[in-house]
This record gives sequence, structure tokens and C-alpha cells, in this order.
Amino acid sequence: MKRTNLETAPGLQDALFDLADLARQAVAATPWHGAPLAYTTDYYTPAQLRAAFDRYRSEFGNFACTPRSHMWHDTVCHRDFTLDVHGCVHLVADTRCTEADHDHSGEPFPHAYMHQMICEPCSWHHISVSENEVVEAWHDHALPTWRTLPVMPAKLRSDDPKMKPRRLDWIAENYPADAQIPGAPILAHRTGRHVSHRSPLGGYELAVTIEGTTR
Ligand SMILES: [Zn+2]
Ligand SMILES: [Zn+2]
Repeated sequence: MKRTNLETAPGLQDALFDLADLARQAVAATPWHGAPLAYTTDYYTPAQLRAAFDRYRSEFGNFACTPRSHMWHDTVCHRDFTLDVHGCVHLVADTRCTEADHDHSGEPFPHAYMHQMICEPCSWHHISVSENEVVEAWHDHALPTWRTLPVMPAKLRSDDPKMKPRRLDWIAENYPADAQIPGAPILAHRTGRHVSHRSPLGGYELAVTIEGTTR
């Protein structure tokens, strides 16, 4: 085999691109029997949806994979957690289609940034355009009494790790025993998004107003 200097080899970039293309073609030739490689509202486990998105990317590449595939995928900030027997997974899908070569007229397509919460142990899921709504639906499922929990005082709402013992002390004094468990939320008097992992118990900080929850 003739040796060539890779630095000066003509067409090296093209050759590498062809190799990536060949790899994708090899994936495309492998039958896929998992979750759809498209937006779906059917129930699938988080592992099935993540495997499908991985498959899509190895077949079609990472470029613009989120807006082109419209598939469910992980958010940057959410990490899966559990509350009692329930699992909490938050996935998102971008269905705001701007692709000239796509035709979604034959299927229900919301054309919005979608949120999905999944509880795998119960095969439960909920989908909405509203992130706060899916988070509340998940808490209705996993801890139906969450709306009756006392609101954490503003002075105890802090991400400072040094505050955590005081926050846990307040929960120990004010929460019913069945809500003093890992993954349980706290309530905060404010507007805006519900934020995962801001409860010292590992669950959400849920934004509530005097009138009720925010949407
Ligand atoms: Zn559940
Ligand atoms: Zn599309």
C-alpha cells in the first residue's frame, strides 16, 4: 500500500466525509424496530425514546437533528429522579416545523415546543405545550396532596448548600410525614417556571401564586 502524507493528501476532507456517509448508510441498512424516528404521542419508556433519538442521529447525523426529527430528547437541566415508587423523566420535542421538504398534514402535529413527563414504573405519561402543566400533572400523579403542602418561607428559598440543613429542618417541622421523602417538592410564592432539583429533598420547586398554581 502506498504511503501518503495525510496533511497534504488531496481530498482528505472529502474522504472523511464519505466515510461518515458510509457509516450512516450502514446504520440506515440495519432494520429499526424501536420507537418511531419522528414525533409521537404514544407511550414509550424513556430508554426507548432515547434509543430512537440515538438511532436517528447515527442515521441522519447530529446537524439540526432536534428541529428536523421533531423527536423526544433530554433537556439540558433535568436529571431523572424518583419519588416513592414513581419515576420522573422530563423530555422535550420541537415540533415547530420550518423544513420545506416536510409534510405533516396527514398527522396530528402541534407545531410547538412540547413537553412530556414520564413515570416508567406506572407506564404513565403526560404531554403538553406547557412545561408547568406537565410538571403539575406529574405531581398530581406521584404526590396528589402536593397542593396542600405549606409554602416555604422566602428567606429559606436559596440554592446555597449551606442553607440545606435549615431548609430540611423547616420541612421536618412543617411537612406531613408522607411528604418527607426523597424527590418531594417544595412550594414557592412566585411566578414563572417550576424548577427541578431545587427542593432540598431532591424534587421540584413549584411556583405557586395566592390564587393557585401558575401556568
Ligand atoms: Zn407513577
Ligand atoms: Zn417537520
